Amino acid sequence: MQEHFYDQTIALLKSRGVTKKDLVDLVIFLQKDYIKDLSEPMINESIDLVLKKREVQNAVMTGIQLDVLSEEGKLFAPLQEIIARDEGLYGIDEIMAFSITNLYGSIGFTNYGYIDKVKPGILAILNDKSTGKVNTFLDDIVGAIAAATASRLAHTNPQLEDDNIYINEEV
Ligand code: MG
Repeated sequence: MQEHFYDQTIALLKSRGVTKKDLVDLVIFLQKDYIKDLSEPMINESIDLVLKKREVQNAVMTGIQLDVLSEEGKLFAPLQEIIARDEGLYGIDEIMAFSITNLYGSIGFTNYGYIDKVKPGILAILNDKSTGKVNTFLDDIVGAIAAATASRLAHTNPQLEDDNIYINEEV
């Protein structure tokens, strides 16, 4: 069951133009200055563990479903227009992202705020309103997955943080 949801989550993200590589690039963007010797297999492993969490799978399923229904014009008014136009005061897309960022403590929240402001890589593409696609929920969900993964890496590899002198002395 769990494996099934994981595969579906990967497939859903891919169907909306988001690959595992895009997520890896976002995590590298967030962590490159903080964790030395951060390898791509380490990041990939962490992304997989985040994508295996039910909270994350639920957010991906729900967010993408709402984006697609809005793209097809199938939501009730006024929600249809609010989501299609990605109105700034709506805010439920960010609330849904918090269910992901909250998984690994407060660093996740800070990481999310930062990446949502800078919008590197795939986030810039998802935010391009000229494509006709609706990614109102997806951009926040993808940013939150990267932020949670970066927080997970920071929590599980404190010995690799270059400002952590206490642990480095013990090694
Ligand atoms: Mg959004």
